[in-house]
Amino acid sequence: MTAPAAPAAPCIICVAITGSLPTKADNPAVPVTVAEQVESTHEAFEAGASIVHCHVRDDAGRPTADPERFARLKEGIERHCPGMIVQLSTGGRSGAGQARGAMLPLRPDMASLAVGSNNFPTRVYENPPDLVDWLAAEMLNHGVKPEIEAFDLSHIFKAAEMVERGQIAAPPYVQIVMGVRNAMPADRPAFDFMVATIRRLFGADVPWCAAGIGRHQAELNDWAAAAGGHLRTGLEDNVRLDRATLAPSNAALVRRAAQIAARHGRPVADWRQARAILGLRPPPGGASDKGHS
Ligand SMILES: [Zn+2]
Repeated sequence: MTAPAAPAAPCIICVAITGSLPTKADNPAVPVTVAEQVESTHEAFEAGASIVHCHVRDDAGRPTADPERFARLKEGIERHCPGMIVQLSTGGRSGAGQARGAMLPLRPDMASLAVGSNNFPTRVYENPPDLVDWLAAEMLNHGVKPEIEAFDLSHIFKAAEMVERGQIAAPPYVQIVMGVRNAMPADRPAFDFMVATIRRLFGADVPWCAAGIGRHQAELNDWAAAAGGHLRTGLEDNVRLDRATLAPSNAALVRRAAQIAARHGRPVADWRQARAILGLRPPPGGASDKGHS
């Protein structure tokens, strides 16, 4: 007689609501103002997202790393989505040099951290070692958990080196990013090898996640759900449900990710479970138990 299967581990859904590139011309549902971003995040939270990955835009809709905008967005999300994990982007499209980390004193729960350089579709994604060291030190100083963006296998090894040097707390939370033109394609054997490398370096049970760009979004959701990872979706990475259909909202993409998780027997983690999985502190001010779960 075989033992009953252990219940599948809950699956965290991260919603990347805006990004640096998509515009309302690409999809009118892309939230650009802080008010739109808070509303879109709230819908995505209700649909099951427990992490929101945030960029901000200026009045002309261009990416910026303005800490004042980030502060307003973080405050709005914390008020309307109590408990949700706020992750701010330190990505390179929003600013240059240390301006990329100017929002870290806001002490968000998490921030993205690219630890190496690679090519993007039309340019070099520059992450020089001294800036990477500085961003990681700022995150440690302010109690911000980094999400390591692995655009390349070498970035996983760099994260291991940074853990060894005490620049990143163990275990690191790595996100595999595939489908960026001129970086890693969405390639299943390469994905499996990156997952195996994360587990070998950081432990078999370490949480990790994956993101696919454009038409690869659902594919990477599927691979990650099957392999025990966590999922990222949202209009930053992909504005369509399929070739012919624009995604009506970030929430619609979250619902799709939840369906993919369900196909693999994975329940969607609520924010309490997500905070426990990632080893995060309780939400600021302590979210009410009467609030959203
Ligand atoms: Zn981003």
